[in-house]
Formats: sequence, C-alpha cells, structure tokens
Amino acid sequence: MLSSELLRTGALIAGAWVESGERYAVTNPANGEELAQVVRADAELADTAVRVAAAALPAWRAATAKHRAGILSRWAALMMAHQDQLAAILTAEQGKPLAEARGEVAYAASFLEWFAEEGKRAYGDVIPSHKADARIMVLKEPVGVVAAITPWNFPLAMVTRKLGPALAAGCTVVLKPSEETPLSAHALAVLGMQAGLPDGVINVVSGDAAAIGEAWMRSDVVRKVSFTGSTRVGKLLMRQAADTLKKVSLELGGNAPFIVFDDADIDAAVAGAMASKFRNTGQTCVCVNRFYVQQGVYQAFTTRLAEAVRKLKVAHGTEPGAEQGPLINQAALAKVRRHVADAREKGARVLCGGEPHALGGTFYQPTVIAEAQAGMEMAQEETFGPVAACYRFETEDEVIRLANATSVGLAAYFYSRDLARVWSVAERLEVGMVGVNEGLISTELAPFGGIKESGCGREGSRYGLDDYMETKYVLMGGL
Ligand code: ADP
Repeated sequence: MLSSELLRTGALIAGAWVESGERYAVTNPANGEELAQVVRADAELADTAVRVAAAALPAWRAATAKHRAGILSRWAALMMAHQDQLAAILTAEQGKPLAEARGEVAYAASFLEWFAEEGKRAYGDVIPSHKADARIMVLKEPVGVVAAITPWNFPLAMVTRKLGPALAAGCTVVLKPSEETPLSAHALAVLGMQAGLPDGVINVVSGDAAAIGEAWMRSDVVRKVSFTGSTRVGKLLMRQAADTLKKVSLELGGNAPFIVFDDADIDAAVAGAMASKFRNTGQTCVCVNRFYVQQGVYQAFTTRLAEAVRKLKVAHGTEPGAEQGPLINQAALAKVRRHVADAREKGARVLCGGEPHALGGTFYQPTVIAEAQAGMEMAQEETFGPVAACYRFETEDEVIRLANATSVGLAAYFYSRDLARVWSVAERLEVGMVGVNEGLISTELAPFGGIKESGCGREGSRYGLDDYMETKYVLMGGL
C-alpha cells in the first residue's frame, strides 16, 4: 500500500471525499503490488458530480479572471512545492522513471501557470458598426460545466491541460481520470483545494468509465467534453455528445512519422529519435511510430539508433538512473509482442531488443527494427511501446505519400537542412503538429492537437483557452 499525505481514495464531490460504496484496486505496473482501493463511482455519483458543478458555476464564472488566476497560480506553486510527493505517487501507479515523473509535475504545473495569466487576456472585441446609431460588441463567456476524461500516460499533465483553461475561462469541471492512475489526479485535487478552489468547482470520480461517460454525455447541463485517449472512445463520446450538441475537444491516437532525409544531421536525428520514441517507454500519443529513413543514410541512422537504444537503462521507475519503466499493463505488453512477432514474420530484422525484458511483468526490451514494411501491423496501428520501426524510402514524394497514408494525423517529425524542403514537407504533412529538426514539441505555449481521426480542438497556448469559451455578439442599438 502507498502512503502519502496527498493520498486520497474517495471521490471528490463538493469539496469532500466521498468514501462509501464499492471499490476497485489500483496497482503498481512495475511489480503488480496493490497501491490503494479507490471508490468505484457509478452513473448516480457521476450525476451528483454534475449537479454540484452546476451549482458552483454561477459564483465561479462571476469571479474576476484575476481572482481565478490567483488560485491557479497558487495551485501551480503548491504542485512544485510537492514535486517529490506527486512524482512518487505518479511513478507508483504509472511506472515512469522518477526523473520523468518529476518532469511531468513541472510540465503539468506549467499549464496552470500559463492559463492563470491567459485567462486575464480573454479579450472581447468592438467591431465598427453597420449603423450610425448602433455598436457591435463581442464578449467571451465560459461554456459552462465541462466534463474532462483523461488517460493514464500523463496522469497529471493531461488533467491540468484541461482544467487550467477550463477554470481560467470560468467553467466548473467534472473530471474522470483513468482507472489505471486516479491517485495522481486525487493528489492534484487536494492541492487545488488547498490553493483555494471553492467547493464544487472541480469534482473527481472514477470507476465505471462507460457508465460515467454515458451519464455525462446524456446530461444537458454538461456543455463541453474534453477527452484525451483512444480514437475508439473519442468517437463514442462524440456520438453520445451529439444529442445535446456539446462542444467537443478530442486528443486521440497518433501514428507519428519521423523522416530522416539524406541531408539531415544524423547525430541530431538520433538524439531527437531517442527523445521522441522512448519518452514514457514509448507510451505517448506523439511518440514516433514510424521512422522513414532515406536510402543514403539508412545504414548509418539505424546503426547509430540501435547503439543508443542498447544503452538505455531499463529498471523500476524508483531506481536511480532508470530510463525505461514497465508498460502500463498486460494488454499493452501483448500488443507490443504481437506487433514485433508480425514484423518478424513479414521479414523485418531486429537490430536490438525484440523480447520481453528479464525484469518480467510488463517490462519489454527497448527495440529497433530494420526493414519494416508498409504491410506490417505496426505501420497501421500505434505500437505504444519501446519499439522503433525503420522503413526505407527514396524520394520526397514517396515519403510524403507514406507518411500521410493513415487515418490519423497528430504529430510528425523530420530532419533536413534544406530550407526549401523544410517548408515544403512541413506544409505537406497531414498532421496538427510538426517537429523540424526536433523530437520534443510539447509545451504549454503552443497549440497541441491533431487533424483527421486524431481529433479536434487545441490544448495549450491562447487557442487552448478559446476551446472553453463561447463568443457572444451584442448589438447595442438606438444610441
Ligand atoms: P487507453 O486504451 O489508452 O486506455 P482509453 O480511451 O480506453 O485509452 O482511455 C482513456 C480514458 O477514457 C480513460 O479515462 C478511460 O477510463 C476512459 N474511457 C474508457 N472507456 C470509456 C467510455 N466508454 N466512456 C467514457 N470514458 C471511457
């Protein structure tokens, strides 16, 4: 069992932790140990959370942006003051190395800090009128009660990336973190209450995901759903949200290509590849899923990548120097094994790794695969694990066609030193985000999001605030 002053195992409703009812177990993916028994919310508790959030809305939206900013800033500061405690909970339930968990705490806090400030700049507009005796004004207003549903790969950052803008805009929130990682969200909520969030402004439940989601999507009080997770569940929520025409923000799966052109700086490309592919043990939606390497540098790039990958330290997240933790669960491990087996069968060469790790459980060896082909399962589907699959290509047109030959479009990366090519490729890639000569692109300052079946809406930056606001036009006549 985990112990921490920030540990809570209830559901947060109207500022109090509801402890009654059924429970479910949260486990440590590194060793299967049970960490806590958390209240398993059902549709009824989900409905209660909505009622409470609706009751808290009038006062919260009426508060000044500056008042809300003060609370969000204090919340960010409290997160940083509790960086080690939050990281310990995060690593325990999610598995990522402690150093990465500490990094995530800072990254998560950055969204609260950014939107605290940005909320003060939710400017409206005055438009030159079409009539001499009238004035046209545009006001920005919060959308209302927001339902946020978040995944397990960034148990803190995916929450603050939604709650930061929602709260700054004046919305109140019902949150359902992933059942794999609710404890991080609970710890975050404890600090939010300490920072001064009024009771009911955020409410947190988890348990029966389908029932909670259905209750929230059915509600006509919930005016927006913001979801990060699989494309399958994103589509389901969008369908369910249609009946009440909620606003929808969806951050769904990607299948990111990483293109290395002949003129690339190979050392930089290998460093970018390592950062982008192996962060969080390959379990981020912007992790590279397909490496396309031009013929002339294929040998050099794949050899150097495999050299770097062999050096990665696979260990329990709490071990000093750990770089690769376990996968989140057995289903994740099974998918990685299936993809690698399929690639082997279809003629790929395994340059390193390719097997479950000796640590057992859900640990898998960091892997590099050469001679990957378009017909392999891993070309079509996100592996979401520590496997770098390298494909060959010859021309720019060919690689653009390959990179875009997928139903999703979240992130893409490419390495080239030719300025004309940089512009042309950046413009031709069908994705929401492009890293040019860079493998890490996530920051609270930039709009994160995808196109095609990777979803809709943007998180972070000033665009991220817009997603939680309605535009109201006021015509003042008879002047
Ligand atoms: P993953 O496969 O990466 O776990 P999911 O889309 O299943 O991705 O999970 C992301 C979030 O969606 C989690 O909080 C999960 O509990 C939630 N979820 C799963 N199924 C549903 C559903 N039917 N309705 C609402 N939320 C759901």
